[in-house]
Parts: sequence; structure tokens; C-alpha cells
Amino acid sequence: MRLILIGIQGAGKSTQGNLLSEKLKIPYLSTGHIFRNLAKERTKLGRYIKEVMNAGYLIPDNKTLQIVNDYLHRPEYKNGYILDGFPRTLNQAKAFKNGIDKVVYLGVSDEEALRRLSYRNGQGREDETPAAIQRRIALFHKFTKPVLDFYRDKGILIEIDGEKSIEEIHEEIMRKVGKE
Ligand code: AMP
Repeated sequence: MRLILIGIQGAGKSTQGNLLSEKLKIPYLSTGHIFRNLAKERTKLGRYIKEVMNAGYLIPDNKTLQIVNDYLHRPEYKNGYILDGFPRTLNQAKAFKNGIDKVVYLGVSDEEALRRLSYRNGQGREDETPAAIQRRIALFHKFTKPVLDFYRDKGILIEIDGEKSIEEIHEEIMRKVGKE
């Protein structure tokens, strides 16, 4: 099964992604995580990615597509995966031809996401500054909302109220992907 998780930062994608991974026995992969690893490398690409990420901007589509496609060709992803953080733009969604089964949108309000992220304060990641978080939320509304419409039109979008409890959300996703 190939699943995609979409939601603003703080929506609970990694929590749900890890739960699903355990239950469905397929790997969980986040593009944010991939990019954070690349950002540690002392290469031109590493420095560039670090700069873009820390400012809360998006990595350009062509670079993102190339990196994600390279990853998904690895043998561990052959039998499926749960992908978090990609596609983030309509161009990425249109160019990605990997036979996605379902796209899960975890909807939470901006206010709720900001409230949750403020609790992470101190233990937060280097790219979780207030300015970067605000920019990511704004970019989500501008560039990622059209991705939801794209998958809704294809009939594979599952919309979940991300403000419910972790267990309720997990069960709802399992039910709606037909794995319960
Ligand atoms: P995340 O952990 O998903 O919030 O991602 C952290 C950062 O990685 C984002 O702010 C972007 O700079 C970059 N990133 C992750 N996924 C993508 C993507 N699909 N397209 C472009 N940039 C991305």
C-alpha cells in the first residue's frame, strides 16, 4: 500500500505515520527528514538545503522530485510506504507517478498547530523558529491546498479531523484505507 500524509506542521503527521507504519508493516518516510539529513552534509547541496529549510521555504520542485524518486527506488520501499511531506506543490503531485492508493489529509486549524508547536519549544528542531513556522503555514495554504483538490478530484483523498485524539484518528485512518 502506498499512502501519503498531508497536513500543516503540527498536524500530527509523524505520529500517525509511525503508528500506521507499525500496523501496516510498511516503512514511514518523511521528506523533511530526508532534507534534514542532507542539510548536515558539508557539500554545496547540503549547505543550500540547510539555508532554504531554516528559512521555512520549499526546496525547488525539480530537486525535490529527483531526491524523492531516488529514495523510493530503494528496495525497502518496493512493497509500499507511508510518505509524509510530499507532494507539497501541484507540480510535484502531477509529476509524481507512483501509483498512490490513498492520500490522508490531517486537518487542524493554524491556531491549533501553533499551540502544539509552542509546546515543542526548546526541544524543537533548528528549522522550527516562529518565522519559519509562520512561513511554512502560509506556503501550505498557497501551494499545498491545490494538491488536496488534485487528489480529491481523483477520488483518493481521505479527510480527517486532526484535532481528535491520536487513537481516534489512527482508527479512522485504518477504517478509511480499508485496513480494519
Ligand atoms: P517538514 O519536516 O515536512 O516540515 O519539512 C521541513 C522542510 O523541508 C520544509 O520546510 C522544506 O524546506 C523542506 N521540504 C520537505 N518536503 C518538501 C517538499 N515536498 N517540497 C519542498 N520542500 C520540502
